[in-house]
Amino acid sequence: MLAMCAVVCAQEFEPVPMNLDPMLLDDDVAEEVQEAPRPEDEPDDYVEEVEKPQALDVPRDQTRVAVLGYHNFSQKAKVTQMLMRTSDFREQMEYIRRAGLTVISMQEFLEWRFGTRTLPARCVLITLDDGWKSVYTEAFPILKEYGYPFTLFLYTKYLHGRGDSLTPEQVREMQAHGATVGSHSVSHLYPSSWKKAQKQGPEAYAALVDAELGESQKKLSELFGQVNTYCYPGGYHTPAMLERMPGYGYVAAFTVIPAKVTVNEDPLQIHRYMIFGNNHSIFRQAMDFRVSQLGQASGSGAGPGTLDQTTPPPPFPVEPRPHETVAPDFPAITAYMNDVAGLNPDTVQMKVSGFGRVPATVDKATRTVQWVLPCRIYMPDLSVHVSWKSVEGTRHKAEWSFSINPNAPIQTENTIP
Ligand SMILES: [Zn+2]
Repeated sequence: MLAMCAVVCAQEFEPVPMNLDPMLLDDDVAEEVQEAPRPEDEPDDYVEEVEKPQALDVPRDQTRVAVLGYHNFSQKAKVTQMLMRTSDFREQMEYIRRAGLTVISMQEFLEWRFGTRTLPARCVLITLDDGWKSVYTEAFPILKEYGYPFTLFLYTKYLHGRGDSLTPEQVREMQAHGATVGSHSVSHLYPSSWKKAQKQGPEAYAALVDAELGESQKKLSELFGQVNTYCYPGGYHTPAMLERMPGYGYVAAFTVIPAKVTVNEDPLQIHRYMIFGNNHSIFRQAMDFRVSQLGQASGSGAGPGTLDQTTPPPPFPVEPRPHETVAPDFPAITAYMNDVAGLNPDTVQMKVSGFGRVPATVDKATRTVQWVLPCRIYMPDLSVHVSWKSVEGTRHKAEWSFSINPNAPIQTENTIP
């Protein structure tokens, strides 16, 4: 276990009610909570030590930055991954303030990563993707109120003020109040478009990279002044993109793989927590600075959510399979428990790292236990814990883990940018 608690003074700290997600509201049976291993990031875990505001700087290698990625906001429309309730956004900003975290600007981030600037131990970099009008109408007033700097990753085809897009004037107004502009390409292509171009050969591919990454930098610089950061749409990036990035004037580029950023971070593949509107578990992870390497994709040791390779596989078929690697849009976690002797189907529970206990359904005829994922998952690993009682009342459990490749082809090309 990596968890190392520093001073915990939760009494002084009234956490904002962030357990809005019904999946995270624990329901019953204290007994199960006792016996099941607790994933690192269950709800109450994220209420952590509090520092006074004005945290002091530390040596550069001791700083950890949680980069947060947001999209669209509304107080009324149905929340989705990409659309957050405005009041939830306010709660999150308030959480950051109360927890004594330091919100830094992109400039401060770059000076820390590339220069000699020091920062406090626990920092947050706020980014907002795509250029939704609601960034101006909903999020900006809150960010201004808190005095938090932020970065807008804009794609140039969606910057005309029509529909739900921002106008350049709105962007300029935000620039005057702490916003940095970064590029999010010209047309926000899906991976399938990139793959099509790849099939046409390296020249065609390079031309598309130039058009999307290079031209957007030029256009945005003309409109808003220096642009030197990029955010890969959907997190999709390839070696050819990385190679050409410096030629366009980008010094840093952001992914959608969640982990704390250290001073040694690869500047062209910077980790970022995508904060969903319909699931607050990723925000909780982002706010947990006790496990500094949380979700670190470097593969240095088993991170939380990864079971030891020696954990025996479950004694029944499961999907995804143990140690399998799947795409971020894998549909469900399923355990086929038909052959489990003496199973009492009413007692089956499923816990998933990062989500806690999940509302898995149990088909009593086929004894198929299934949790349909509420969103795409960009954590590098997930571990699953299934427990059940036999008809005599003995409790049993099975565990397995699998990996997620954030660059794997997405099958469900729907509304998610
Ligand atoms: Zn996007």
